[in-house]
Amino acid sequence: MSTNDVGEKVSKEELLEKDRKYVWHHMSPHNENPMIIESGEGSWVQDIDGNRYLDGMSGLWCVNVGHGRKEIAEAAAAQMMKIAYSTLVQSHIPAIELAAKLNEWLDGEYRIFYSNSGSDANEVAFKIARQYHHQNGKPTKHKFISRHRAYHGNSMGALGATGQAQRKLKYEPLGVGFQHVPPPYCYRCPFGQTKGACKFQCAQAIEDAIVWEGPDSVAGIILEPTITGGGMIVPPDEYLPMVRRICDKYDVLLIVDEVICGFGRSGEKFGHQNYGVKPDIVTMAKGLTSAYSPLSATAVSAELYESFKEKQAESHFRHVNTFGGNPVSCAVALKNIDILEKENLIERSSHIGKEMMRRLESLLDHPHVGDIRAFGSAIGIELVEDQKTKVPATAERVMTIIASCKQRGLLIGKNGDTVPGFANILTLSPPFSTSDDEVAFITDTLVEVFALNNGK
Ligand code: PLP
Repeated sequence: MSTNDVGEKVSKEELLEKDRKYVWHHMSPHNENPMIIESGEGSWVQDIDGNRYLDGMSGLWCVNVGHGRKEIAEAAAAQMMKIAYSTLVQSHIPAIELAAKLNEWLDGEYRIFYSNSGSDANEVAFKIARQYHHQNGKPTKHKFISRHRAYHGNSMGALGATGQAQRKLKYEPLGVGFQHVPPPYCYRCPFGQTKGACKFQCAQAIEDAIVWEGPDSVAGIILEPTITGGGMIVPPDEYLPMVRRICDKYDVLLIVDEVICGFGRSGEKFGHQNYGVKPDIVTMAKGLTSAYSPLSATAVSAELYESFKEKQAESHFRHVNTFGGNPVSCAVALKNIDILEKENLIERSSHIGKEMMRRLESLLDHPHVGDIRAFGSAIGIELVEDQKTKVPATAERVMTIIASCKQRGLLIGKNGDTVPGFANILTLSPPFSTSDDEVAFITDTLVEVFALNNGK
């Protein structure tokens, strides 16, 4: 028996029956027997049967400070008692304080536009980029360059920017004007080159796309510092600075999607800070509140913002959303950032990532492990049928490993499912509060599970 939100006792059978009848699960075939999560503490979640699992993916790459943070709940309650809602057509204290704090975290001065989700934040970025060019004498600049395998959200524009056919096919046509180029995927270089001995054709492909599309038609490029959900594709260090130079050359805005990489996941405050580039627009969500409350933000460089300020009556940004910048969510974000700072969790994220990589190194000898890649504490283990041919592992192999980990109390993810049969990259992205013993639990479990699954 569990207790529901209105204090009634409810059995697992009753809950499952209601779930089967009423709940539409995200991004999955309907599961008749889903795990029903009831509570969480630190890096662990507990289901309704009392089984505990280490949350190796921080939910969906988002619960960066870990579960069960009372101080966040208290900050939310205190704000609700003061005022739970106020529109950002006016202003309110948590939105102001958070925008100032984000400016401390970003390099340079940015204006902060709040929304509700990562998809929203990217939609806002596209609209701002188009309007910016429009009111700067370049109204034909409307297209965006993105990369194959990238994920930028579920709404029509953000899905248009996404480079994964399987997610898009049944919903097209989507937001128009998104052109995709190959990603810097060194393990399977789309240009047939070898890492360390190439001429960065992946960056050159962006310039080529701008030239072919016509520089007068391209508004921006959107990219994650590392492609996370599309398969943990970590670029060479040179890539992002090269992209920045190409953007400058053609007056194309650099939009960096920090929805996953931001707030410490990369081992820096924001992923792009690993490469010393300054984006024109930065989008963020997930780790902004560690998912304790929905909130996203689009940070726009002060230079760009000027053109929205000049002739306000004509040039202001005509975009509003009811919940964006909700005071409770902003208060939650401020407390979340306070925890990240006070507990040095960004350094911790970097440490966890290095430690996991060190402890997983032996897996590189496993016949079905092709590559292991890390960006801070986000890790991808690419599974193959054969190390030489690099044929992606079968779905059955991938699912067996995930199920064996779950049996042992470890939840991990899988990504890269751009084409049927390609969901062959296991992912890890644990909360930064994960202790060294818990890191050992994650890696020991994986090593044990791989040892049991090393056959043909
Ligand atoms: N951008 C990236 C890189 C993401 O990984 C996601 C979601 O996973 C999004 C955008 C969309 O965020 P949301 O699901 O909050 O709309």
